[in-house]
Amino acid sequence: MISPKELNPRGHPTTPIIDKNLLILLQRMNELRSIWAKPMIVTSGLRSEEKQQELIAQGKSTARVSKHLSGNACDILDKDGSLGKWCLDNASVLERIGLWCEHPDYTKGWVHFQIMPPLSGKRFFIP
Ligand SMILES: [Zn+2]
Repeated sequence: MISPKELNPRGHPTTPIIDKNLLILLQRMNELRSIWAKPMIVTSGLRSEEKQQELIAQGKSTARVSKHLSGNACDILDKDGSLGKWCLDNASVLERIGLWCEHPDYTKGWVHFQIMPPLSGKRFFIP
């Protein structure tokens, strides 16, 4: 099971809205984890504005308004790409749970999950 602390390991200050988002994210990710039936390691959960600016400066993110800032997204380690491939093959599971992903082709080494659709509405979207 993914623990609440894993989604906010640095204990960034939250608001009631962020807390609510993190709780929904936790529930949906653990539902996915129980179906995936393998460990999931969170590599990035809630981010501060400073951290996001740092990632943009390093070219590791292009999102000025990242879903990570509002507790709506987390990244899961996927060294061999097996989780990303499984998600592509099981889009109906993501649809039922209510999760959307950046297309795994664009996130080598991790899978980005979020609890709200992107503007395009696509289950797998280009970040
Ligand atoms: Zn992400």
